[in-house]
Amino acid sequence: MPDDSLPPLTLRLRVRVSLRLLFSVRRHDFRAARTFMAMTFPKDPPVVRVLKFISWALTQMWCTIPDAMRHTRFATKVSKVPTWLKDGNPLANHPWAERPQATLAKVADTVVIGCGLAGCAVAYHWGRKAPLGRKLVALDMADAATGSAGRNEGLVVMGRYYHMVVQTVLPYLHEVRRDLTAEQQMQLAKQFAAHYAQACYRNGDMVERTVREEGFDCDYAREGWVQARDEDQQASLAESVRMALKSGYTDWMSITPEEVKRRTGMNVRHNAGFSIAAASFHPAKWCWSLLGRGMESSRVEHFSRTKTLGIDDASDEYIVRTERGEIRARHVVLCTESYTPLLMPQFHDLIRATQTQAASGPGGPPEMKPHVGISGSRGFFGRHGGETMIGSDATRVPDREAGRIQPSRFLTHYLCTELQTAFGRAPYTITNEWSGTVSYTPDEYPVVGVFDGRSQYILGGMAGSGTAVSFNGARCIVNRILGDTSEPDDYPYDYFSPMRLLDPAEHKWPKLEEAT
Ligand SMILES: Cc1cc2nc3c(=O)[nH]c(=O)nc-3n(C[C@H](O)[C@H](O)[C@H](O)COP(=O)(O)OP(=O)(O)OC[C@H]3O[C@@H](n4cnc5c(N)ncnc54)[C@H](O)[C@@H]3O)c2cc1C
Repeated sequence: MPDDSLPPLTLRLRVRVSLRLLFSVRRHDFRAARTFMAMTFPKDPPVVRVLKFISWALTQMWCTIPDAMRHTRFATKVSKVPTWLKDGNPLANHPWAERPQATLAKVADTVVIGCGLAGCAVAYHWGRKAPLGRKLVALDMADAATGSAGRNEGLVVMGRYYHMVVQTVLPYLHEVRRDLTAEQQMQLAKQFAAHYAQACYRNGDMVERTVREEGFDCDYAREGWVQARDEDQQASLAESVRMALKSGYTDWMSITPEEVKRRTGMNVRHNAGFSIAAASFHPAKWCWSLLGRGMESSRVEHFSRTKTLGIDDASDEYIVRTERGEIRARHVVLCTESYTPLLMPQFHDLIRATQTQAASGPGGPPEMKPHVGISGSRGFFGRHGGETMIGSDATRVPDREAGRIQPSRFLTHYLCTELQTAFGRAPYTITNEWSGTVSYTPDEYPVVGVFDGRSQYILGGMAGSGTAVSFNGARCIVNRILGDTSEPDDYPYDYFSPMRLLDPAEHKWPKLEEAT
């Protein structure tokens, strides 16, 4: 839209936008502000950070946001339903909607709790592999794919690239492996990164193969994921690419601003990171397809709107207590991600609920390419059909706020300005705005394995990269429960066991390999 067709940036518009922003401020805005300050002014002392932030926020409220609001509109009633769920949920209130007289299973071989990316993947693999007579019951306290699985950006990521894993695991090793020298800690962190990357790469290929072979209708396309980097991050980008290549993990590379423009339509001044093998899909359709295919076998039953209240250990089995009755099971798989500490308090501070938010609506810059993952320096962008999605944030919230929908309206406004900077001006209407919680472990490394020394498994701690871990992780857990050793297990105990967090002193840590 040419500038002269825009409403003028009048004093009245500035006052109206500023007042609306002030009245929209909620508790989460203050928490998100802390995250923003830590990311944007990392080297400044706290007082300087706050002063810089106030100055930045005032400029946003008075200048930048009112300017962006000349071509951006919020619908009169912005819905909190994530874009992926707005056309309904084929498994809503299952089976109660079709069969109100249905009763909850009383006995199962395995109960999986939580039907998001992880739980639906467990149900899918179970349906394919379990012999007749071994039943899996999949429970969700809401409907399948209504947790973060149905609220995300829709990227099938290759996870966190090798260098990033080294950077997050190393500080944890400094804490819990003080017996090692600095070089040995670094070597161990690299081994962690290698195992993570290997499992993720296989996961990404398995997702693609499954979509094709099963004929899942989930809008899958593999166009990669571009991640902008500021000037001061260029050295780290170059180092991350060098380190990954040296270790044989070739997914992660650096691309020029021209290449960024060609792939995404985004304008950047500096080189960006590029994950070649990342893909995009409709995450909720993926979950429903997996669970639906699992249920087509006689070995999987699903009960939505059935909250698990607790799990009792009855020596050779477990009693899963739910709102609708009890289920006796030999194995339990927790796929409750950020909700986990509410069910299992021992995971408090180990599975840390962390809020991320998004908004979407019709319009947005036509230059933005569909299907490719796009991250700017402060947020992400995506084009899905005729709609544009924007999102950001990674702020820890208390356990009890897991799953709450409480997006910051200020942040959504700010993302509209970032969208404009990255792609240019275009009319855009925000109709949906939501948030979700992901979970981070202290080393930001996932947990895949048994946590009670017997048969309670957890698949979680995926650090906002659930698509990178859940499908392969679920396959490995199902194989372990069924005793199937015919396939590679990409989640060895020494690395992925939750015991490295629950009891690091007693955990059997991996052996150190020759320095790489
Ligand atoms: C805005 C946003 C953008 C994101 N973008 C991406 C992305 O592009 N790519 C990516 O890989 N990841 C992304 N993520 C993260 C990703 O969505 C998560 O990693 C993923 O959804 C985790 O899947 P999950 O199945 O473990 O957990 P969830 O999807 O959160 O599912 C947990 C389920 O457990 C159920 N549950 C909890 N407690 C109980 C109980 N007591 N009884 C019964 N059921 C229970 C919940 O109802 C829920 O359905 C994003 C997240 C957000 C919020």
